Amino acid sequence: MSAAADLSDAPRLEVRGLTRSYGGVAVVDDVSLSVKPGQVTCLLGPSGCGKSTTLRMIAGVDRQDAGAVLVDGREVSGPVHHTPPEERGIGLMFQDFALFPHLTVAQNVGFGLRGLPRSEVAARVREFLGKVGMGRFEGQYPHQLSGGEQQRVALARALAPRPRIMLMDEPFSGLDDRLRDGIRDETLDVLAAENTAVLLVTHEPAEAMRMADEIALMRDGRIVQRGSPYNIYNAPVDREAAGFFSDINVLEGRVQGALSETPFGQFLAPGQPDGTPVDIVFRPQHLRIDFDRDGRGPHPTPETGTPARGVVQRARFMGSESLVEFRMDFDGSILTAKVPSVFLPKPGMALWLMIRRDRCFVFPRKAG
Ligand code: ADP
Ligand code: MG
Repeated sequence: MSAAADLSDAPRLEVRGLTRSYGGVAVVDDVSLSVKPGQVTCLLGPSGCGKSTTLRMIAGVDRQDAGAVLVDGREVSGPVHHTPPEERGIGLMFQDFALFPHLTVAQNVGFGLRGLPRSEVAARVREFLGKVGMGRFEGQYPHQLSGGEQQRVALARALAPRPRIMLMDEPFSGLDDRLRDGIRDETLDVLAAENTAVLLVTHEPAEAMRMADEIALMRDGRIVQRGSPYNIYNAPVDREAAGFFSDINVLEGRVQGALSETPFGQFLAPGQPDGTPVDIVFRPQHLRIDFDRDGRGPHPTPETGTPARGVVQRARFMGSESLVEFRMDFDGSILTAKVPSVFLPKPGMALWLMIRRDRCFVFPRKAG
């Protein structure tokens, strides 16, 4: 492999074993990540799991207790070195991005360019305001702009110094839903055109699925799984990871001979010793529904296993799909099915359910 090919595939940002404690509690615990040029990695996890703390250490405004941050293979922060934030070539964009109210749009965007020749500053300001579609607003003040327009200016301000790495902490959560999708896509387009390495923090799975090349799923200060949106959704590491992306149904089972027997038939539990309690987890869209024919259900198939009967408790129309809740005959538990379009059976109606077996996950049950 040539040196050039090596370089192009090398991570621009690398984080190794980053750890930070407050008051003796590790809020970031051995976090490792990497982001390549032109790639978007989403750090995804519930509020309080340590995402912002991780970002602050990468930016250099907070310092880790252990671990290192590397930019293009060079350590910018580690046990010995600590390069100040402004010398790392890292751009920042936070939720409360606060434009300077007393500066015009053009002055706001030029703010991070002090030190460049005046003509260069003017050219950059024009270039980046153009990229975010705000060229006409150069002379306006922030209070004259809508929230979405302010967001665009903030983006231009963050991008104008041409950072090699962009850290974004929930940058779209202040925007209303209608604006959000458009601005997200525009932001990605501008960042991709600049070949920037992007680390984006969010607590919203849908946002991560939409924006990420890679998702790093974080919980209690640790990265529990890294992968493409497709892999994280379709091969979660545990029940919590599955449940973070959608509602889930859970059947309880126990392993016997690498199988778990349930009212829906047998599920494979390879490598699990006999007697291990397991959770069989599946998403509502992977339940199939069939009609009752005089108390008899459809025939079992290898794909769907054994059908089990349930009684409709509630059916709700959600716009593009319907959600139907069943009380199962076998143990009285509730399972939820998600069906495309309109399917609104009456409460009290008996139907048969089958599970897409290839879409089930079997996890050893955790204590507690
Ligand atoms: P997230 O961004 O994922 O919501 P944070 O990184 O902001 O989470 O916070 C992670 C945990 O660390 C939280 O429990 C928070 O209270 C705690 N924490 C963050 N900053 C400090 C600090 N400066 N002092 C003490 N605790 C902090
Ligand atoms: Mg945060």
